[in-house]
Amino acid sequence: MNNKKQILCVEDDAAIIMPLRYALELEDWLVTWANTGMSAIQQIEQNHFDFIILDVGLPDLSGFEVCKKIRTFNHTPLLFLTARDDEIDRIVGLEIGADDYCAKPFSSREIVSRIKAIWRRMEIQQQLLAEKQQSISSQQPSNIWQCQDETLQIHYYAIALQLTRYEYRLLKLLIQHPEQVFSRQQLMDHVWEHPEHSLERTVDTHIKSIRNKLKQISPEHEPIETHRGFGYSLKRMS
Ligand code: CA
Repeated sequence: MNNKKQILCVEDDAAIIMPLRYALELEDWLVTWANTGMSAIQQIEQNHFDFIILDVGLPDLSGFEVCKKIRTFNHTPLLFLTARDDEIDRIVGLEIGADDYCAKPFSSREIVSRIKAIWRRMEIQQQLLAEKQQSISSQQPSNIWQCQDETLQIHYYAIALQLTRYEYRLLKLLIQHPEQVFSRQQLMDHVWEHPEHSLERTVDTHIKSIRNKLKQISPEHEPIETHRGFGYSLKRMS
């Protein structure tokens, strides 16, 4: 059994692949390469990866399209490579579920340190979760929802949800205001950093993803209520 970390690197530019390959292999990571969006999706469907590096400018699908597709079934940490220091690209990337981004030109060292930072964050989260679970194992959880601001984590029935930044903010807002009906626009204004650059249907995508994650923990409950053509609220649960 190989316990090297497995990275999928999706990039079509040879000038970037070469130094990146060198830097990643130097860290003793096992790197799989894909140079189109379609082949990336196929790889992700068929194999396990610990990390995904995804270029936005691919020859077939854009990296954004690839990310949207894979986020319906996969939540591996993901770093976007954007062609320029374009704010819109960065915002879109984070909204559709990336953990971070690197704007070209970048140094391979920068990528490596970003990946390590994301990993460190995850490890700390998992460690805190383990400690927390130990401490609550002897007692009944007092609440269905528990928000931890320091780790940006929400526990649902004492199990940590793996949420993206915007999913966390969105769910937290709903938890803080049970039964209050929010319009999509209100949710965007409260949660998104640049709501003017975003579409209301982005809210739907995020809610869908949150629901999937909640369902994995408790398939029989559907805590988020849809108000057709308007928005969402969170049911009061006991
Ligand atoms: Ca490219």
